[in-house]
Amino acid sequence: MGINYKLRFECVRCGNCCTDLNTLVNTIYIDVLRIKNGLNLTIDEVLEILGFYVFDQAPSSKEIDRMVVPPIQTERGVAFIGLKKKPNGQCFFYDETKERCSIYTFRPGFCRTFPFTFTILNDKNKKESEINIFYTEKGIQYCRGIGEEYPTIDLEHWIKLGRETIRDLSKNNQLIKKWNNSVKNKQIIPSAKNFILTIFNLE
Ligand code: SF4
Ligand code: SF4
Repeated sequence: MGINYKLRFECVRCGNCCTDLNTLVNTIYIDVLRIKNGLNLTIDEVLEILGFYVFDQAPSSKEIDRMVVPPIQTERGVAFIGLKKKPNGQCFFYDETKERCSIYTFRPGFCRTFPFTFTILNDKNKKESEINIFYTEKGIQYCRGIGEEYPTIDLEHWIKLGRETIRDLSKNNQLIKKWNNSVKNKQIIPSAKNFILTIFNLE
């Protein structure tokens, strides 16, 4: 599979990705650290901005294997971690008056890469693995910046971002695996605070 050279996109700041009721902004360890350092937050303050979204029905291990960001074991059940949302669906950090993100410099990888997602193709004959880039389903669904009228994307920029994203996700998923194993083996109390502390300790 080759890289798609025909992707067209330009953010027109419609705000849909920040205000969609059904969009959860997944946060991985690097996002938590970036926001924590950018806003100079304590553990308790980080807990104020994060939601631990517990599944109604715990996913099977096969379902978990297919997830880009696996959930973590918590005291209340298996949960995704994401930025909190306001009751109207807006992201916690969306500034309604200015119609923009209030933490743009520190925003999570999910927001940096939207409306794209990446896959990686490892080829042992090649020095560097190949990155493929696609529109996400949500992007196709509501991003106003996708369309023939927009310029083709700067592939070099996006592929670089894709590589960084895949590297960060891989590190994050190792962390989650370790956490979930520690919970299973009763080596740690699976509180939200302990999980954030584990992330803080990565620095
Ligand atoms: S962090 Fe910023 S860019 Fe990301 S969804 Fe929230 S308001 Fe939008
Ligand atoms: S939905 Fe697309 S165009 Fe609208 S703010 Fe998000 S990235 Fe930009």
